[in-house]
Amino acid sequence: MRIVALAGGIGGARFLRGLREAIGPEDEITVIGNTGDDIHLFGLKVCPDLDTVMYTLGGGIHEEQGWGRTDETWSIKAEMKEYGVGPEWFGLGDRDFATHLVRSQMLTAGYTLSQVTEALCVRWKPGVRLLPMSDDRVETHVRITDERGTRAIHFQEYWVKLHAAVDAEAIVPVGADTAKPAPGVLEAIAAADVILFPPSNPVVSIGTILAVPGIRAAVAAASAPVVGLSPIIGGAPVRGMADKVLAAVGVEATAEAVALDYGSALIDGWLVDTVDEAAVAAVEAGGIACRAVPLLMTDVAATAEMARAALALAEQVRG
Ligand code: GDP
Ligand code: CA
Repeated sequence: MRIVALAGGIGGARFLRGLREAIGPEDEITVIGNTGDDIHLFGLKVCPDLDTVMYTLGGGIHEEQGWGRTDETWSIKAEMKEYGVGPEWFGLGDRDFATHLVRSQMLTAGYTLSQVTEALCVRWKPGVRLLPMSDDRVETHVRITDERGTRAIHFQEYWVKLHAAVDAEAIVPVGADTAKPAPGVLEAIAAADVILFPPSNPVVSIGTILAVPGIRAAVAAASAPVVGLSPIIGGAPVRGMADKVLAAVGVEATAEAVALDYGSALIDGWLVDTVDEAAVAAVEAGGIACRAVPLLMTDVAATAEMARAALALAEQVRG
């Protein structure tokens, strides 16, 4: 079975680790990763979501944090601070720096982001084929209004520096409108037997991937069933501030509102957590098959169970 999953960072990566556990040896997973969170820092190209997927599946992730490397040290950051060179708010450890150095060196030499990602995965052996959504530069910006007035800031500044404490007025994936899907992305979607939306951020992870021209249409047109898992449980994101970016696009932070926002033109099935059992009827009324199962990714076994439920629902809705 050929499984395609769209993925952001922590939510996507943790789900994929369970999915990898749930499938058989003949099954293969292609991951289309969000690159809208990418940022250039210290002259380096940083791809937080691709790296979170790569490190998590490759056994190099800092488990408790959910991002960055295990056993990290921070000498470079301290040295940069001595020079007065920031930003200080973005956590890049020494081991993580090596990844960004390799990536930036290869990009400067003329390799595409897809080629670089493949090269980095030679080391990490994630057990999936990891494709960036696009080789073109896309960077999500957030419009805010504060004491300095109304302006657009990079998503990372909004998320990491401001902790989404200011209301997001608009989310703009700058560059997405002219970006092309990376090689293999549309082909993988067309050839898929199942397409999954992990419990990733619907706006700035999955939404950004779908904003690359051609990807949304390819998912909608795919012969494979499309099944998503709710990142919202009991009216709140399990971790992070997804409610803030949902508000910016006028979507309530509930399991049913997220499903209905994707809509039956895009997804065929949706899993909500058992605490959101009451949402099942509303989702099904929207033409999307819905089941309530435990959706907390407490460990790999629980996450694999979620993946099995998603694959089972895909079989049920297969037309
Ligand atoms: P990011 O790029 O690191 O923000 O990660 P993603 O976009 O892939 O996923 C973020 C989303 O994961 C957040 O909106 C969370 O609500 C969701 N999430 C995190 N942990 C869990 C969990 O255990 N269960 C579910 N259902 N969602 C989760
Ligand atoms: Ca992200």
